[in-house]
Amino acid sequence: MRYIEEFQDPRLAQRLLEEIHRTVTRPWALMEVCGGQTHTIIRHGIDQLLPDSVELIHGPGCPVCVTPLEMIDKALAIASRPEVIFCSFGDMLRVPGTDRDLFQVRSEGGDVRVVYSPLDALHVARENPDRQVVFFGIGFETTAPPNAMTVHQAHRLGIRNFSLLVSHVRVPPAIEAIMRSTECRVQGFLAAGHVCSVMGTEEYPRLSERHQVPIVVTGFEPLDILEGVRRTVLQLERGEHHVDNAYPRAVRPEGNAAAKAMLADVFEVTDRSWRGIGTIPDSGWRLSARYRDYDAEHRFPVADLRTTEPADCRSGEVLQGLITPHQCAAFGNTCTPRNPLGATMVSSEGACAAYYLYRRLGDGAEKQEANSVV
Ligand code: SF4
Repeated sequence: MRYIEEFQDPRLAQRLLEEIHRTVTRPWALMEVCGGQTHTIIRHGIDQLLPDSVELIHGPGCPVCVTPLEMIDKALAIASRPEVIFCSFGDMLRVPGTDRDLFQVRSEGGDVRVVYSPLDALHVARENPDRQVVFFGIGFETTAPPNAMTVHQAHRLGIRNFSLLVSHVRVPPAIEAIMRSTECRVQGFLAAGHVCSVMGTEEYPRLSERHQVPIVVTGFEPLDILEGVRRTVLQLERGEHHVDNAYPRAVRPEGNAAAKAMLADVFEVTDRSWRGIGTIPDSGWRLSARYRDYDAEHRFPVADLRTTEPADCRSGEVLQGLITPHQCAAFGNTCTPRNPLGATMVSSEGACAAYYLYRRLGDGAEKQEANSVV
């Protein structure tokens, strides 16, 4: 298959690893921003193959994980209403709210449906004109354009019984917040390639310059990760910091013009709360005034709902790279993928789930059961 198997080639991986080992002379801490990259790293044992002095810190790039508890509770409240058909991607159904999840709402009689596209939810709305159809719009710059397009279509077609529960977040303000934290140890970033394929790279030079960190746009296959690491440590060793695109097969500097135009039409930038981290200024989108009628938070009485994060879940620290998952006392004990306490254990992209799935149990005798790239 093009663009997958050739980026998993063990011989090329070995060559890149050797080059990284030759390049590195000092300790460096790099953050991979995206949860998909985290899974590639843990699944293939890439972090264990790098020099001991190169640390990979897992960043807040899992869309399910960063969706705040408050927003999950709003989804649960809306989905419980008898007039509502609540549509979502499947990965949100098991994310625990304060006292239940969307599966439980469904088992209690709520009409909760899994869809594979927001346009499927719009189709449900057309077929059920006497019901209110709500789509749970979460995620980064990657999922925001199709959700924006769906609202645009609902408006154009006059479908009034559709609305979007919006919890979209943006990566650059999160990088800014991480770098401003007094606890930050990150010296270089592997930026999320798919986000940059939509938004381009124009927001990153300012960040790189302001915080004097290399930012290397990186893909998701093992060779992509290794090349991202190689380019980042090369800059660090040379005392340089600039934006470098190591994912040119998908990313152009200007991004995707059509997707950006759709975002600009439907959304406006707003402050957003990130699970376990708190509010980050300008880090999200909400529907613009023209489309405000399609905002589920305006349509249903949930705007004032407030929640408190569970004290025994340390997902906020995991999401900021301050601890690794097995440093949480609940990891593998009271918190497992079958009985998750926090979203980072539920989500397929969550760091806690990755550590559990690939047997990184933190007992000093970790077995790398997954395939290694070399
Ligand atoms: S292991 Fe579970 S309780 Fe601990 S941080 Fe991860 S999700 Fe939260």
